[in-house]
Amino acid sequence: MFLDVHELALHKARIRRTYAPGTLDLHSSEMRQVEPLEIRATAELIEGQIRITGEFHTRLELVCARCLDTVVEEVGRDFDLFYRSVTSVPDDDEAQLNLDETDIGFFEGDGMFLADILAEQVNLAIPMKVICRSDCRGLCPHCGVNLNHEECRCEKHPTDARLAPLARLKQDWSKKQ
Ligand SMILES: [Zn+2]
Ligand SMILES: [Zn+2]
Repeated sequence: MFLDVHELALHKARIRRTYAPGTLDLHSSEMRQVEPLEIRATAELIEGQIRITGEFHTRLELVCARCLDTVVEEVGRDFDLFYRSVTSVPDDDEAQLNLDETDIGFFEGDGMFLADILAEQVNLAIPMKVICRSDCRGLCPHCGVNLNHEECRCEKHPTDARLAPLARLKQDWSKKQ
């Protein structure tokens, strides 16, 4: 879908669309869309700027930061975005200052593709650090084994430190016997 400034000048566009997995280029190998992405939005032209406001949601397959297994996460976001034509950027300082203050994007030519906006918004919506589960044990730093699935034969894991007091207690107890 192309948001054309000339069309938006005549009337706002109400957007209700579904993007099947694979139809959006998310510009990342670290995530994969696994369910349709649904977007509801309104696009309009305000003082020469395209304003698009709405919401989208989908489910993505991401990579666990600890064990590198895949994790499916619900991802969504409300947005209220302004895009200004690159050719309309004013030179005077005052306008430039206002431009810096607001979170504004740019478009070239007659408008922009909704898919490009969405790809950016999806990237902004994914969590900085995804963990497959709160008690994910991660990979062994020595041999690289996924500790959620198997134990390895490496000497020590950091988690063993928590058991040290217990081991000492046991030792004391056996000395008293
Ligand atoms: Zn994990
Ligand atoms: Zn190991």
